Amino acid sequence: MARQKVIGGDPADSGSGGGGKSLPPGPPSGDFAGGFVPDDRQFDEELRPQRLADVIGQRKVVNRVRIMLDAAIKRAEPLGHLLLDGPPGLGKTTIAMVLAREMGTECQITSGPVLKAPKDLLPYLTNASGGSFLFIDEIHRLPPAVEEFIYPVMEDFRVDIVLGEGLSARTINMALKPFTIIGATTRSGLLTAPLRDRFTFREHLDFYEERELVEIIVRNGRKLRTSINEETAHNIAIRARGTPRKANNLLRWARDYATIHHDQGEINGEIIQAALEMLEIDHLGLEAMDRRYLQTLVTVFSGGPAGLQAIGHTMNVAPDTLEDEIEPFLLRCGFIQRTPRGRVITAAGVEHLGGAAGGRDGRRLF
Ligand code: ADP
Repeated sequence: MARQKVIGGDPADSGSGGGGKSLPPGPPSGDFAGGFVPDDRQFDEELRPQRLADVIGQRKVVNRVRIMLDAAIKRAEPLGHLLLDGPPGLGKTTIAMVLAREMGTECQITSGPVLKAPKDLLPYLTNASGGSFLFIDEIHRLPPAVEEFIYPVMEDFRVDIVLGEGLSARTINMALKPFTIIGATTRSGLLTAPLRDRFTFREHLDFYEERELVEIIVRNGRKLRTSINEETAHNIAIRARGTPRKANNLLRWARDYATIHHDQGEINGEIIQAALEMLEIDHLGLEAMDRRYLQTLVTVFSGGPAGLQAIGHTMNVAPDTLEDEIEPFLLRCGFIQRTPRGRVITAAGVEHLGGAAGGRDGRRLF
């Protein structure tokens, strides 16, 4: 689902449920063609924390962001431009939306790859009201021409528009109302230094601890009108790969499973075990795709080192997807290493694969 929706920021609108009001008509919908495929994100909305106080985990980030926010509100100034970086599903969009709500301002949403030329960005800039937010997801994928166009926007709230071509070309400047750009990236390393430096604040989101995920699962179980105790929530949390998005998706799956197989709203230990088994998620949270990655390294590349592109081609998966979605977790588990010569499977990775496949001792891991 296209995420161009603008969320509103009525500070009185606290608590669960309401996704906020829609403010200015988003820029032309054509801008989003191919931007976002339908995915879990539309369901994310109902579980997204609405206020800063509802955000579980990321304590240090939340504490710093609270100060930026309160200071901006106190001085009645727009928030400084903020860059959020970290793996997918950790809460970058959530924090941007929560901040907009807390500031009582609107938030337009777009993404680097859909802003193909400066003219694609222009409607967002002219729509931006004073103090509002423009959230740019995957900002590392902004084309260079758009990136250069955004520099004077971030620095002076000005756009330079070139009219005509060749000798008759002239530049006109247009003043914008001061507003805030919130950039989100899974690869801050790919951001150019000039762009990175134009952000007043930079925050890095890290993987969640298990107890934080348990808290999120129990709370979201209530929001979904499903009862789940802490022990069962823990069973989900250890497979959630450190991300709330995964935890939410597993919770939803377990709820569906309980509805269909047990006709009940309670998720107990037995249900969770069967539901996760059906998803082929093992006891550490590895999914079929993760195991296929490890298997490819072993069988095709003799354990490595192997280049990311080569692994991607063999698996028929985009290297970007491997790097963003698969590798961070395998690295965290210590199952692969990234060396200058390529990816290498570790002894622990080989051992896990053996177990997961029902290896020598026939032990199954899920
Ligand atoms: P990102 O933008 O980093 O990919 P999102 O902000 O879309 O991640 O978060 C994915 C989902 O995870 C959200 O819909 C929300 O339900 C949940 N979530 C994220 N951060 C938190 C948090 N700190 N507390 C509770 N739920 C969270």
